[in-house]
Amino acid sequence: MALAGLLWISLLHFRKEKKMQQVLIGDWRLREKCLQWEREIRTRGLDPGAGLARLRSIDSSPDKRCAGRYLTWTSDILVSSELFHRGDWSVRCALYHELGHAIFRLEHTESGIMSEEIPSEEYLEQNWNQLLKDYLNQCYDKRLESL
Ligand SMILES: [Zn+2]
Repeated sequence: MALAGLLWISLLHFRKEKKMQQVLIGDWRLREKCLQWEREIRTRGLDPGAGLARLRSIDSSPDKRCAGRYLTWTSDILVSSELFHRGDWSVRCALYHELGHAIFRLEHTESGIMSEEIPSEEYLEQNWNQLLKDYLNQCYDKRLESL
């Protein structure tokens, strides 16, 4: 019985991993953040599976003009490699921002993760829990867009 349970958990885990693996993650530095995004989305009770299946790749880009881009015509997400110098929270914010556009078709907001300007690294670090909560609520409100 315990073994069957363990097997089931492993299968579930495998399924979850496989879903994100349909998306090509070009830059290994983004991989853990992508998986964490998926975990957080699922924790909020949302299933990003169908939305992720529409996405082709997530990669870094040498483009310094914008922090992140979601190319609708190719279904690729690009995060500026400049952000890796700025800090971990900035990378996370840009990635979550673009995934918000791509998976839940979120629009820009006045402040927070979906604002056009990425907040400072310090601000993100100090306010991340609240910013993430607001962002997940926005995703929840647009949950039908991910289907
Ligand atoms: Zn945007």
